[in-house]
Amino acid sequence: MEPLQDKQDIFGLTLEKLQETLRPFAAPAYRAKQIAEWLYKRGAVSFADMTNLPKKLRLELTDALCIGRPKTKDRLDSADGHTTKFLLEFADGTAVETVLMRQPYGNSICVSTQAGCNMGCAFCASTLHGMARNLTAGEILAQAIAINDMLRTEEHGEKVDTVVIMGSGEPLMNYDNVLGFIRLLHEDYVLGLSYRNITLSTSGIVPQMHKLAEEGIPISLSVSLHAPNQELRSELMPINRKYPLKDVIEAARHYAEVTKRRVTYEYILIDQVNDGEEQARELVALLRGQLASVNLIPINPVAERHLLRPSAARIEWFAKYLTAHHLNVTVRREMGTDIQAACGQLRNKHLAD
Ligand code: SAH
Repeated sequence: MEPLQDKQDIFGLTLEKLQETLRPFAAPAYRAKQIAEWLYKRGAVSFADMTNLPKKLRLELTDALCIGRPKTKDRLDSADGHTTKFLLEFADGTAVETVLMRQPYGNSICVSTQAGCNMGCAFCASTLHGMARNLTAGEILAQAIAINDMLRTEEHGEKVDTVVIMGSGEPLMNYDNVLGFIRLLHEDYVLGLSYRNITLSTSGIVPQMHKLAEEGIPISLSVSLHAPNQELRSELMPINRKYPLKDVIEAARHYAEVTKRRVTYEYILIDQVNDGEEQARELVALLRGQLASVNLIPINPVAERHLLRPSAARIEWFAKYLTAHHLNVTVRREMGTDIQAACGQLRNKHLAD
């Protein structure tokens, strides 16, 4: 057999691109749709699996094209059975984490957009080894499809209901691939997900936030805030020196205005760093009057970082203060800490092996 890299990988192509790719094979137009459904809905890993295609066409396609699907290198299930974390490996050996959370409202998955990350946030495990590379739209989609296939076959026809783009990497630094992925997810021949059921989280790449607002795809936007003033945010998130807090807030406000969607600010609570009364007061002043909510995330301590989680009482105090001052607040329900579901920890374990 020829090596894979000599063949064009068709996983991640849109229907239109598949039609173009199939043109030399003199197949009727509807074959592209059949192949798309095999790839994205019916779990085909080879052309031989596509049993409603003529045998001759299957052989021709096998000679010329390939289907790039990642291998499951590791899988961890939380003790309560709600969370499963996958380490998926692509053909070049690059591995990324994808997490499935079986929530009361459906199956939610968290996908990675880059292998590693170079944002350098002080609290995050994904950035400890820098960024290896951007993922392609097909590689981001392959994470969703791998889990959707698993749910369908192993969990009684279940499916992926919501997608959060909150795994390793900064999605807006890999803009075109991430947008390609989002558009694919929405297609009927893929998962047919409504844009509302897709959430993208960013550390605040201001120009791309403005660009995203103009795309005409009303996905939910989350902004990683983590500090209520320029100085502290720059300490925790170096990207804040390039794109200052006030511009991030303005870009989020613009996104909410254009899309009419409430923006969520994520705020990791770190003991004695950003969880005091002064920060609570500043946060209220910063967000007052915005179409926004705040998601408080008690930090998942990363061994290398020496940042600690506040006490339950302190977390409750912080949440109550914001609520009392008319902010819309949720405290993130913890899932999967027993399986290293905190950002980047499973991949790091394997890099260290
Ligand atoms: N780069 C994007 C998306 C990936 S991070 C972003 O910054 O939003 C996704 C979320 O996980 C962010 O809010 C991030 O701040 C948070 N996160 C990272 N490390 C964490 C930790 N140790 N504990 C809790 N949340 C963490």
